[in-house]
Amino acid sequence: MGSRKPSANAKRISAFKAGLGSSDDLFIREERRQGALDACREEARRERACERKKRYASRADAEEAARLCAEHGRRGLRCYKCSYCGGWHLTSKALRG
Ligand SMILES: [Zn+2]
Repeated sequence: MGSRKPSANAKRISAFKAGLGSSDDLFIREERRQGALDACREEARRERACERKKRYASRADAEEAARLCAEHGRRGLRCYKCSYCGGWHLTSKALRG
C-alpha cells in the first residue's frame, strides 16, 4: 500500500465535497419538481372538482338541481360546498360512513 499522495487525497476529499454539494442541489431541484407536480395535481383536482362542474350559488339551488336530476333518472347525486370557488356543485360520489 505505498504511495499515498496527500495532494491526491485532498483532491479526492474536495471532489467528495463537491459531490455532496451537487446532490444537495439535486435534492432541492427534486423538491421543486415535486412542488410543481403537486401544483399540477392540485390544478387537475380543482378542474375535476370545480371548473368542469356546474356551479350553484346556494345549497338550495344545488339540491333543486339534484332533485330535478333524480326526476330524470339521474339518482344518487349530492351537493357539496366547493372549497375552491365557494359555490355549490353536484357529485355522484357516494358518501360513506
Ligand atoms: Zn367550485
